[in-house]
Amino acid sequence: MFRVNENYLKLPGSYLFSTIAKKVGAYAAAHPEESVIRLGIGDVTLPLPPAVITALHRAVDEMGAAETFRGYAPDLGYEFLRKAIAEHDFAERGCEISPDEIFVSDGAKSDSANIQEIFAADSRIAVCDPVYPVYVDSNVMAGRTGSFDADTRTWSDVIYMPCTAENGFVPAFPESRPDLIYLCFPNNPTGEALTKAQLQDWVDYANREGCVIIFDAAYEAYISRADIPHSIYECKGAQTCAIELRSFSKNAGFTGLRLGYAVVPKALRDRNGVSLHALWARRHGTKYNGAPYIVQRAGEAVYTPEGQEQVREMVGFYMKNAAYIRTGLKEAGYEVYGGVDSPYVWLKTPGRMTSWEFFDYLLEKVHVVGTPGSGFGPSGEHYFRLTAFGTWENTVCAVDRIRAL
Ligand SMILES: *Cc1c(COP(=O)(O)O)cnc(C)c1O
Repeated sequence: MFRVNENYLKLPGSYLFSTIAKKVGAYAAAHPEESVIRLGIGDVTLPLPPAVITALHRAVDEMGAAETFRGYAPDLGYEFLRKAIAEHDFAERGCEISPDEIFVSDGAKSDSANIQEIFAADSRIAVCDPVYPVYVDSNVMAGRTGSFDADTRTWSDVIYMPCTAENGFVPAFPESRPDLIYLCFPNNPTGEALTKAQLQDWVDYANREGCVIIFDAAYEAYISRADIPHSIYECKGAQTCAIELRSFSKNAGFTGLRLGYAVVPKALRDRNGVSLHALWARRHGTKYNGAPYIVQRAGEAVYTPEGQEQVREMVGFYMKNAAYIRTGLKEAGYEVYGGVDSPYVWLKTPGRMTSWEFFDYLLEKVHVVGTPGSGFGPSGEHYFRLTAFGTWENTVCAVDRIRAL
C-alpha cells in the first residue's frame, strides 16, 4: 500500500486564518444586527490600476490574433519584463542586477516556499519570530524542522530569532550558525523595517559565516523613510549571500492576478562553488512553465510612468489608513509599532491580555477583526496586527470604535 509524505502529517492543524474565520462566522451568525469590520487579512481591496487594465486588454487581443498569438512563455520570464525590472527596481537604486538574474514567477508565496528545494536536506534554517508561516511550513514539508512542541508551537530544529519591542524588532545573530536565513523587511506581521546599516550587518554576517539570506521584499513599495533599503542588493556583498523575492501583489494589487520574481545573483555559490543561479534555472525549467503572457504585460505596465503614478497613489491610499490607525490607537493609549514603512500596524495588547483574548474582546465589544500576534510565533504573544488594506470608511470606523472603548 502506498504511503504519503509523512512530513505533511507533522504540520500543525487549525491554521490561524481558518480559526479567525470560524470565530468571526460564529459571531456574525449570532449577532446579525452588528456590522463586523475586518482588518485582519493581508489582502488588498482597491481595483487594479488603469494602466494595468489597459495592458491586459491589449495583451488579450494579441492572444486572439494569429500574428500575435503566443504559446508557452520563456520559463524564466519574458525579456521585456525582466529588463523593466532590472532597470526600475535595481539600476535606478544603484544595484547591479542583470535581467538574466531575474526569474519571473507567479508570486512570492510560491518562491518563498519553493526556494528551499535547492539547498541540502540537512540545512539549518533561521527565521524571525513572529514569522510569515510559509517559510517554516515549507521546510516542515521538506523534513528539515525536527519535532513540534505543541506548547510553544515551535520546531526543535528551527532557529527562532525573536523580534519584539525590546530589540526594536531587529533580529540578533543566532547563537548557532544557520545555513538559510529568512528575512522579511519591511516585516509582515510587525510592520517594522531594518535600516540599511542593520541589513548590512546581516549581509556581513552571512558572508562571514557562509549562510544564504532569503530576503522577502514584498512590502518594498511601502517604505517611506530614507534610510530603509528597498533591496538587499543596496548592501555591499549581498550578491554573494542573498536571494531576493519580490511580488506585484501588495504594491500593484496583483493578489488575484499573480506575478512576482526571484533574484538569484550569478555570484552566489555554495561551498563547493556550485552556482545557485544554475540550479534555480534548472528547477524553473523542470517545474514551471512561466507566468502568463498577459500577466507579464500587466507587470510591465506597472513600470510605465502612468503605472508608477497609479501604484504610488494606491500605496498612498493604504498608508493614509495606516497613519490613521497608528495615530488613533496611540491617542487611545496603545503601544503601537509599524505602519510607517508597511501597511501593518502591530500593537501591544492592553493589560497583559493574550493575543487571542484581545481578539475576542475586540470582536465582542466593537466588532473589529484583527490578527492575533501569537499566530505568527511565540514572540508574537501579547501583540495584535491590524492591516491598512480596508476602505477609508471602515478604517476610520474601526479605529473610532476602539478609541471609544
Ligand atoms: C503578501 C506576502 C507575499 C506576497 O505573496 P504573493 O504570492 O506574491 O501574493 C510574500 N511575502 C509576504 C511576507 C507577504 O506578506
